[in-house]
Amino acid sequence: MLKNDQLDAWDRDAFFHPSTHLAQHARGESPTRIVERAQGVYIEDRDGNRLLDAFAGLYCVNAGYGRQEIADAISAQARELAYYHSYVGHGTEASITLARMILDRAPGHMSKVYFGLGGSDANETNIKLVWYYNNILGRPEKKKVISRWRGYHGSGLMTGSLTGLELFHKKFDLPLEQVVHTTAPYFYRRNDLEQSEAEFAAHCAEDLEALIAREGADTIAAFIGEPVLGTGGIVPPPEGYWRAIQAVLKKHDILLIADEVVTGFGRLGSMFGSDHYGIEPDLITIAKGLTSAYAPLSGSIVSEKMWEVLEKGTDENGPIGHGWTYSAHPIGAAAGVANLRLLDALGLVANAGETGAYLNRAMADALADHPHVGDVRGEGMLCAVEFVKDRDSRTFFDPADKIGARVAASLLEQDKVIARAMPQGDILGFAPPFCLSRQEADTVVAATARAVRMILG
Ligand code: PLP
Repeated sequence: MLKNDQLDAWDRDAFFHPSTHLAQHARGESPTRIVERAQGVYIEDRDGNRLLDAFAGLYCVNAGYGRQEIADAISAQARELAYYHSYVGHGTEASITLARMILDRAPGHMSKVYFGLGGSDANETNIKLVWYYNNILGRPEKKKVISRWRGYHGSGLMTGSLTGLELFHKKFDLPLEQVVHTTAPYFYRRNDLEQSEAEFAAHCAEDLEALIAREGADTIAAFIGEPVLGTGGIVPPPEGYWRAIQAVLKKHDILLIADEVVTGFGRLGSMFGSDHYGIEPDLITIAKGLTSAYAPLSGSIVSEKMWEVLEKGTDENGPIGHGWTYSAHPIGAAAGVANLRLLDALGLVANAGETGAYLNRAMADALADHPHVGDVRGEGMLCAVEFVKDRDSRTFFDPADKIGARVAASLLEQDKVIARAMPQGDILGFAPPFCLSRQEADTVVAATARAVRMILG
């Protein structure tokens, strides 16, 4: 076995890490963590640390680590048929079964599943489908896509443009011109502190209406949003938000893409965020929780309304010119089938709802009165704590103070609990595996309270 020192040197010499300060890492100013094994909600690294992963990797290991059933399914599939493509009508038992299982769980008006590899490529697929759809319908001008500030939809060219976080645009010449951003449904950060939640939701819908009027409804093809803002700060929508937004979209014949990469398959305690909030999307993006990240797999779930037009398009133009070598990869599909069966067998979606509610309550009880905690919020197995310099005036800390990152670092160093310092704002995010127990939730909360006191008094 290679020694840690050797791996550390190779890591800095050879490995281009995503979402990393490249220069600091190359200079050895940030640690390398070599993760070796994991079980349940715990990961272990090569330095002998056992860490409670309260972010489930990148909110993706929903079933928990070390699931033999999923590992066995992957291994059996790799031995029997590691790969065959899915072009021109080819499939495998796993990919066909998984498509059926997804539709059995998705809202009733959804019709077909296109498989990709990750959330970013699934959203790229969605935008292409939206453009194709409007071309077939004879409205080539209707192409722009509205996304929200603080939305996260990936980091490709189009999906990085859809993402509404500065870091993902800066120096990459993004966003592309087909993308426009509207108000983030972020109640705690509303400009007018007098607004109620319902008034703020109405305000978001008015902003959307005004943006559509400025751009021209006949130029806007689609709106994309996560049911709960994820990477932008873990922000459940204000009461009435989705109802108000959908009314505007319907009025202007604008398609709705629900990006359920985080919320799909149970994170909110419902199978889909669309069910949870009464969203009726034309496309749903799925990834992470589809396989609990045991293998890369994503999907675009297409509604019947769009499917009919896609079929018409191929009658007029020939086969759809879209496909990846690894679409519906058998190993990913086998992982997906085993994962969805496991979620059912162990009642993990219900546990995400129940233990998630317990975690959120306990976090609020422990921290809501702290003078530097402005907001504790969440839904299902998603929870966030937002720090402020002054609660009454809602004054935020200077980003240079890196309060969120410092609390996360203390939590990790002192108590061996992984939370995520969200990229924009001093926000500590939690998204544990669905198998989290109440006792483990208590550990996370007690450790967080300690870390907050350590950094903020
Ligand atoms: N959409 C959402 C809502 C996400 O949270 C993410 C990733 O975190 C993506 C899309 C992109 O997925 P991936 O990183 O698999 O490309």
